[in-house]
Amino acid sequence: MKRDEYYHWAERAARWGADYLASVEQRPVRAQTKPGDIAARLPGSPPDDPEPMETIFDDFEQLVPDGMTHWQHPRFFAYFPGNAAPASMVAEHLVTVMAAQCMLWQTSPAATELETVMADWMRQAFGLPDHFCGVIQDTATTTTLCAVLTMRERALGWRGVESGVAGTRPVRVYASPQTHSSVLKAARLAGIGERHLVTVPTDETWSMDPRALEQAIADDRAAGLLPGGVVVCVGGTSIGASDRVREVIEVARRNDLYVHVDAAWAGSAMVCPELRALWDGVEGADSIVINPHKWLGAQFDCCLQFLADPKPQLRTLSVRPGYLRTLGESDVTDYNDWGIPLGRRFRALKLWFLLRAHGLEDLRNRIRNHIAWAQEAAAAISDLEDFRLITPCHLSLFTFQFAPQGVAPGAASERLLQIINDDGRIYLTQTHHEGEFVIRFQVGQFDCRREDVLLAVDVIRELAESSSSLAREV
Ligand SMILES: *Cc1c(COP(=O)(O)O)cnc(C)c1O
Repeated sequence: MKRDEYYHWAERAARWGADYLASVEQRPVRAQTKPGDIAARLPGSPPDDPEPMETIFDDFEQLVPDGMTHWQHPRFFAYFPGNAAPASMVAEHLVTVMAAQCMLWQTSPAATELETVMADWMRQAFGLPDHFCGVIQDTATTTTLCAVLTMRERALGWRGVESGVAGTRPVRVYASPQTHSSVLKAARLAGIGERHLVTVPTDETWSMDPRALEQAIADDRAAGLLPGGVVVCVGGTSIGASDRVREVIEVARRNDLYVHVDAAWAGSAMVCPELRALWDGVEGADSIVINPHKWLGAQFDCCLQFLADPKPQLRTLSVRPGYLRTLGESDVTDYNDWGIPLGRRFRALKLWFLLRAHGLEDLRNRIRNHIAWAQEAAAAISDLEDFRLITPCHLSLFTFQFAPQGVAPGAASERLLQIINDDGRIYLTQTHHEGEFVIRFQVGQFDCRREDVLLAVDVIRELAESSSSLAREV
């Protein structure tokens, strides 16, 4: 395809996109394909000669959309949302066309400066004090890795970056069992080791027990280990649990530990001032991660990290070979110093488009609605015969079980979830909570309406009734 055909195919893609968005709710939410179905329909090797764009586009339409799970479907209640507001889609298109590498100020001045300003707009939107500065990373996983590497190096007095971690005292990182698996991955990748990620017990609200944290740190010191940092959970992925941020940070401060707050999902809700009690005390953190690519509506990938002081992370991550020196520009920001990859996408543009096309008040109201509708759904499900709520709404996430008489609730819930997702009208996922299989229900898709949530409750009731009559017949 030549450059002068670009307009034709981009227009065709935009038309396809508009039709897709207009009709996505008629599709089953979760892909109804079997493993291997799609691969079996693709040639085993690449073509030697060019094929017409027409054929390529046709094949896309035939093969791909039916093989996808539809994250922009208004009845997507699984995992956490992966929202892409149309304004952010348009921004992504423009970014795709300029196709710049945004590693240095000089390689992309507008991208760098928009990133600085958008991170600051978002800082204000979340009500964070102005000593925080921000950077846009790809994902929460790599951001948490950056933070854990920084904890390690700070504890080791930056000996690790110079000589490696062999022979150093083990660095200990503390987190509750409700933190995301990316913390475990970070402990592995940072050379800390799974064994030195200390799981601190939680109380009856699934929040880290600050006294248990204090005790664990003291025990580790006595054993000659090196306490490095704490990962604080705000809105955990399993059931939405949160630590008591202020109390945990107080313990961390007393013990000179680095604090990283994982608010990857729940952070988006902090645009609503009335919800900020959830992370009361967060201003004491060293590092905070929030994914606007989840609930807020910025197309993936768009992950914000806020740092009280960027120097420790820069000292851990920044390397500057001669070919990357920016001649004559000593006081510019080169964001590759702040993260792991050198190459960086222009991620700030979609935030700029999103924030301006919606305004904060519209984004807040969407989140408020999601939370109100989730509460309504949780109440309706707990009123259904044979259902029980397992964990209450944490923002817009709750969990429940189907517990008909004479069947193990975990097994019955698993069976019901399969039936629900094969039906296709809604999509839910599961978690293991206190050793039991439970169904997760989160409301957060950008264009979700109250009627979608009410329909979900009807679908659950209807399919549970038919599945328990099936069970009785057996
Ligand atoms: C989704 C999630 C992550 C991981 O996010 P990625 O950006 O996909 O790496 C980490 N922590 C929490 C609490 C999450 O919900």
